[in-house]
Parts: sequence; structure tokens; C-alpha cells
Amino acid sequence: MKTVPPSVVNGKPVHVTDFVEGKDWCVDLGRVPETRELLFLVYQGEGTQIECRRTVPWQGKELIPPEQDQVLEHVRFPFSYSMHVAPVSDLLQRIDSLFMRCLDLEDEYRFLLASFVMSTWVIDRLPVAPYVALVGPPGSGTTTVLKVLHLLCRRGLLTSDISSAAFYRASDRVTPTLFIDETATAGQQRTLFHLLRSGTTRDVFALRENRSYRTFGAKVVAWPELPDDDALNSRCIIIPIQETLRTDLLRPDSTEIIKDAEWLAPRLFRYRLAKRQMLSIPSIPGVNRLRPRMHDLYESLALAIGEDPIACARLLECLEHQQNVNRDPLPPNQSAVIGALHKQIHAHMEQTTYLNLDLTKEANLILAESGERFRLTWKAVGTVLKNYGFFKKRTKRKWVISLDRAARKRVHELMSRYGVDVPSSCFPSRELEEACEFCKAQHGVHSEDSESNDSTGYPPAAKEAVVNPLEELRSGEKEEEIEDIKCRTAEDFEDEDVGIIEDIEEEDIDRFDNEEEEEDIDRFDNEEEEKDIDRFDED
Ligand SMILES: [Zn+2]
Repeated sequence: MKTVPPSVVNGKPVHVTDFVEGKDWCVDLGRVPETRELLFLVYQGEGTQIECRRTVPWQGKELIPPEQDQVLEHVRFPFSYSMHVAPVSDLLQRIDSLFMRCLDLEDEYRFLLASFVMSTWVIDRLPVAPYVALVGPPGSGTTTVLKVLHLLCRRGLLTSDISSAAFYRASDRVTPTLFIDETATAGQQRTLFHLLRSGTTRDVFALRENRSYRTFGAKVVAWPELPDDDALNSRCIIIPIQETLRTDLLRPDSTEIIKDAEWLAPRLFRYRLAKRQMLSIPSIPGVNRLRPRMHDLYESLALAIGEDPIACARLLECLEHQQNVNRDPLPPNQSAVIGALHKQIHAHMEQTTYLNLDLTKEANLILAESGERFRLTWKAVGTVLKNYGFFKKRTKRKWVISLDRAARKRVHELMSRYGVDVPSSCFPSRELEEACEFCKAQHGVHSEDSESNDSTGYPPAAKEAVVNPLEELRSGEKEEEIEDIKCRTAEDFEDEDVGIIEDIEEEDIDRFDNEEEEEDIDRFDNEEEEKDIDRFDED
């Protein structure tokens, strides 16, 4: 099975490589699907044919692909390329539509994962390697997410044997995107952490059998729970995975999904060939709010999608959110506010607003009940609300928090997802829980008339619940958009023109346009942020 590579080809010494580039040209690896053979694809700038070759003469040497072994054989390489370069916005949208067909994840997480996929295609240009941590108990669907990402990322390698020399050789030679299920690497915890710590920066090498290997590269790890390693976690996009109630999702190995992935791969590859030398990050205000590691992560992800400033702004927003929520468990001040909201939305289901002053009182009662020695000012409460994306409105000189359907849903998600540690008084009685659509959805209780097409898996809003018209408008738009993408994808496949991106009619959908929203709803002012927690003198 193992073949010894020749040392001379065409009368020239060989140079084993997975990638070589010069100004406006590059030589990259592809794989012939039938024979599994690795070949070079020679790209010489836009407008010229991409050539397929077994060896390539270069600087008095002959380039040859790396020798295949039992690990390299399992690395995915592209086998075709598209004729034209698709815009980033289009690629992001296509990836998202694929995710929507097989994953039950919030928009924000799907967007982060789509950005991650893009980043893997230009990994050799990135300052730090991006990591994704998929966190969920076995059976929650982390493996599905791994498999879906594996279909789309550059040079994906799904592996459990992370200590073999062959594995390190493969990492060193072709910089794969690694997919690791922590539970499958039993007994290799130390190796895994070593691999992860050494693999984010370019100049750190892993030592193995007296040789040093480059382990730099994008990685996705599925964890049953987040590792107790803040330094490592702060380098990751953290995606909590929950078991889904949806039954309409396609499997990652279904024909439809494979087809979609095969449609995308040549386009992602073309994007790499054409754009990798001209990547830049647009200047987006607010980047300095990110902490250093999150800032590094932002730069890597933003570089890959820098052509699309709207996407970069959204990325920044998502990473800020990551920075704020990925603490486990939440600090007591945040727990108290979320707990108080949870109490309120169940005790007074008919009320869609909550006075900030009342919320502050309730949060302080919770702090007292939890034995905390500090209390919150209404401003500090405002800061917490702002961090979690809750909106406030001003009515008759008083600030009230909007508890619309979206806000109620968010409170439930925060409670279940981030281990909010609050006294039992914050949880509703069984009776109230029965009346709450979100509690019911979380506990998997479905009444007969709660048939739903809602992509969240929640039953539709109860009749008395007040629906934010803006949100309805936007979610309506989104549904049209999804439908449309599905149709287009199907048509694209039918016309058998794989490898060529058709000009797609511009639909002018502004998904990220917040202007409308800002007219109606005031976000919390910045000056309120200044004071965080007011200490309370007890004596
Ligand atoms: Zn509830």
C-alpha cells in the first residue's frame, strides 16, 4: 500500500508539496474521485484555464503531491472548480441554506459556522487558526454538525486516532481542517489538549517521535461539556447544541445535502484560488470592544469574508455576543436579572412590558435570597439587558423592558442554555409552565393543535401573546427567502451545468438592515454602561 516516492522526475529532483504560489498564480491539490489520486490544479490568474497536472516544474525542481497513507487517504480534497468566482455574500447564503436543511440552529450560530467554513478555505492566510467547539451531551446532535461541516470545510479530516504518527504527518503536510469527537478519543485527553493548544498559531510545533510537526489549522471539536480550560475556550466559537424536536431535517448523508455540498465545494475552491491573495478586513467600528483572543478570532474570520462589510459587521456582533454569553455559569448579577425576567414572564403572562425599576427590585430580591452581598442599580440592570440583546422603550418618562415573544423566547433559552443559577422561586409552578409555550416546547410537550412550521421548533404564539410586528415582518421575509433558495438550488441541479455559477438574479434582500428597528426601539444608551455593579455596605 505504501509506495516509495521517486526522487527524480523528468530528470529533475522532486519537491513534495501541497501548495505553492507566486504572484497571481498557485498550484493546489485536488483529488480524482474515481481513482482517489491526488493531482495538482494549476491556477494562473482569472480568465485563464485551470490546468490539471500530475507534476509541475518549479524552480529547477519537479513538484509532486504528498504520498498517500492511511490518514491522508481520508482527507477531502476538491475534485472540481467553478468557472466563475461567486461573491462572498452568495456563498455565505448558500452555506446557510444548506445548514437550514439539516441543522436546528439559531441564525447567529449558523452564520458563525458559515463564516468558519469560509475561513478554512483561506487558512494559510489567517493570523490564527479558528476553532469551533460544539457543546452538547451525546445524542444532542454534535456529530451531525461535525459531519455537515466536514462536507464543506477545506481538506476536512474526521478522525478519532489523534496520537498516531500518520495523523501528525497528515496535519503537517496538508493542513487539514480537523474534526474531532472528544468522546471518540477516549484516553487521549492530554494529546487532544496538546494538539489544540499547539494548533492555533503558526510557529508552534507539536513534538512526536523525535520529530516536530506543524499542527496549525482550523479545528472543530465536539465536547459533551466545555472543557475546564478558559484559555482554550476563549479561542473557540462556542456553539451549544441541543437535541432537536424537528422531524423535517435532512441527514448530512442524504442525497440532497450531498448534492448541495457538491455544488458548493467547487465554488469555495474557486473562491480560494481567486481571492486568497487579495483578502482584507474592512474597518468596522467597535472591533476594539473585543477581548484580545476574541479579537484574533474576529480577524481570522473577517479576513475570509472581508469582501462583504455587512457580513463582517454581523460577525462582530455575533462574536461580541459570544464574548458575553459564553461564561458558564453566568455571574450572579446576570443570573439575577435573567431569573427575575423568567419569573415575571410566567407570573404575568399578559404583560408585554416590565418596568426597569420593578425588575431591579426583583433582581435584588433574588440576590438577597441567593446570599449575595451586593445589589444592582437600575443602570447595572440595564447593562445586563443590553448584553443579552433585550430592548427597552421609554413611555411617560419611565423605562420599560419590552417582553415581546422574541424576548420571552430568549429568556427561556438563556435559562436552559447557560446554567442560570437562581432560587427555585424564579421557576414557574407546574400550572404556569403548562400555560407557557416555551416551557412546553423545552419539555417536549405538544398539544394536538400545536402543529407548527416554525423553524425554531416551538409551537406558534399563543393567541394572547403580543407579537412584535417588526419581528413578524422580518421572519416573514426570511421564510420567502428560504423558499426561494430551495427552488433555485433544485433548478441549478437540474440543468446539469455543474461547475459553472449562473448569474443569479439579485433579490436585494437586506437581512441585516436594522435601520427600521432602530426607529421604534431604543437600544440602551452607552452612558448607562459606565457603572456596573454597586457594592452594598452591609454595616
Ligand atoms: Zn416558560
